[in-house]
Amino acid sequence: MLNGRTHWSVLVLCVLLAGGAGFFFYQTTQLKSSLVTTAQEADDTESHLTQRLAEAVETIQKRDGQLSELENELEETKEDLRDAERTIEEFEEEYRTTINAVKDLNKLSQIDEELLQQYSRVYFLNENYIPERLTQIDEKWVDATKSDEYFLAQAWPFLEDLLEDAERDDIDLRVLSAYRSFDEQAQLKGQYLQTYGEGANTFSADQGYSEHQLGTAVDFTIPALAGQLAGFGDTEAYQWLLDNAYKHGFILSYPKDNAFYVYEPWHWRFVGEDLARDLNRDGRNFYEVPQRELNEYRLELFD
Ligand SMILES: [Zn+2]
Repeated sequence: MLNGRTHWSVLVLCVLLAGGAGFFFYQTTQLKSSLVTTAQEADDTESHLTQRLAEAVETIQKRDGQLSELENELEETKEDLRDAERTIEEFEEEYRTTINAVKDLNKLSQIDEELLQQYSRVYFLNENYIPERLTQIDEKWVDATKSDEYFLAQAWPFLEDLLEDAERDDIDLRVLSAYRSFDEQAQLKGQYLQTYGEGANTFSADQGYSEHQLGTAVDFTIPALAGQLAGFGDTEAYQWLLDNAYKHGFILSYPKDNAFYVYEPWHWRFVGEDLARDLNRDGRNFYEVPQRELNEYRLELFD
């Protein structure tokens, strides 16, 4: 049997145990509840973060899309720019071509088309034709039997160069006759007819006719011939012209055995350096070349 004191002690112990258990239980419950809350909060945080992450991914994807769209637009803009540059270049090229064509046309319009024209017994230069501008040939180059001789001003520097070139080679080349007007030519023909009768038609009057009226044809001689045409073909001066005249733009209009006219070794015509050089190189006669081919040299006639 327990005594009264023990009984109280047991009772107090029980109460204390119960209290402790209660407290423990209470604490556990509190802890549990706190853990649940924390877990809940963690869950909430996680889903919140997941959501934020998803949103962020979505935003990045959207930005990526926008970026590649911008890149495409940039590429297209660059392509447009290149197209525009090409268009400008093409336009500039076209502009230059047009300007050059206009310049050429302008230049061509200032070069008399008669200067490369072929004349024949049936096609003469108009009797009213007068060269644009004539220049008087320095007397030192004119044959002693003649005085005033004129040449087309634009072509004169080429003739002067030829005469100086001949002088350097000790060739006494002189101008016997250069520009002749229609009337002078008619007069001359009259004189020839008087002197030579109908035979005059075969050498001077008809052939040289138009070319002398142009102001770009010249009959050469040497002092020793004393103003006569005959015999020039046998001179050293003639040989020199055959070898060198083309360098100064002159050609022999009526060479030996040509199919068109009687041989005139003294009669030379200025046709420009390009054409004279090409004819010399190819061994062709001016009167054998189609007129349209000659016309292509007109632009460079005085170059
Ligand atoms: Zn002549």
